[in-house]
Amino acid sequence: MRLSGKVALVTGGSRGIGFATAKILAENGATVAITGKEKERLEKAVKKIPNAIGIPADITKTNDVKNVVKKIIEKFGKLDILVNNAGIFPKIKRLHEIDEDEWNKVLDVNLTGQFRFTKEAIPYLQKTFGSIINISSDAGIKAYEGFHADAYSATKAALILLTKCWALEYSKDKIRVNCICPGVVDTDMTKPFLKTQKDKEFMDNEHPLGRIGQPEEIGKAVLYFASDDASWTTGAILTVDGGESIK
Ligand code: NAD
Repeated sequence: MRLSGKVALVTGGSRGIGFATAKILAENGATVAITGKEKERLEKAVKKIPNAIGIPADITKTNDVKNVVKKIIEKFGKLDILVNNAGIFPKIKRLHEIDEDEWNKVLDVNLTGQFRFTKEAIPYLQKTFGSIINISSDAGIKAYEGFHADAYSATKAALILLTKCWALEYSKDKIRVNCICPGVVDTDMTKPFLKTQKDKEFMDNEHPLGRIGQPEEIGKAVLYFASDDASWTTGAILTVDGGESIK
């Protein structure tokens, strides 16, 4: 098994891409901890993942984040893999229509949240020569017509650069840091854009391979980065997007 003996933490693992990723890591031998804001959903998710525990945590609360890492170390004694996945998508509005609170909320979850978890995890990843996988987005690479989610795009672009900064900063500790940029993936986050048959056809056609993605297709890319197959790969930004970012 590619991840035998490894301990992984997947933030936002209660549903969508995080859930699919946690399941794939577990099926490949890892012991997995997932976090999420809602306790009940987390408990349901944990039951479907072999060798998993769920630790409720709001990524915007430093004490919650500290508690997650503390509990993992208490229970499993180490941490090898951090998947920075938790995120939110704001209401589509043009920049001058959003207020500062909306802007700050997206930054707090999607960017400062990733900082909080990474900061807590690093001392343990230093001990295991571990690996970090950041889930960014095609929205962090380029602008899209009619896609007015500037705070979101800003956080995802920042995560791409932070991947490179952290990869360089922690290369001396042999921690690998890589990043995945998904296109549109079929999850609760994208449901509002896929309400009608016409919406679905539009989204499918936005992707040169002719369809939107499934969460497992992102999880498999995470598995690659987390495993020894990527032992000489750090600072990489991988689009997993049916070709969406090519256009
Ligand atoms: P989702 O809405 O299905 O799941 C988001 C997860 O984040 C949930 O588990 C939720 O509990 C968690 N979360 C949200 N706010 C939180 C908070 N304050 N504290 C703790 N956890 C919190 O979304 P998804 O589509 O699975 O997205 C996962 C990641 O992939 C996100 O970072 C998203 O930006 C990114 N992404 C998604 C798509 C897509 O099309 N679905 C495309 C590109 C990138």
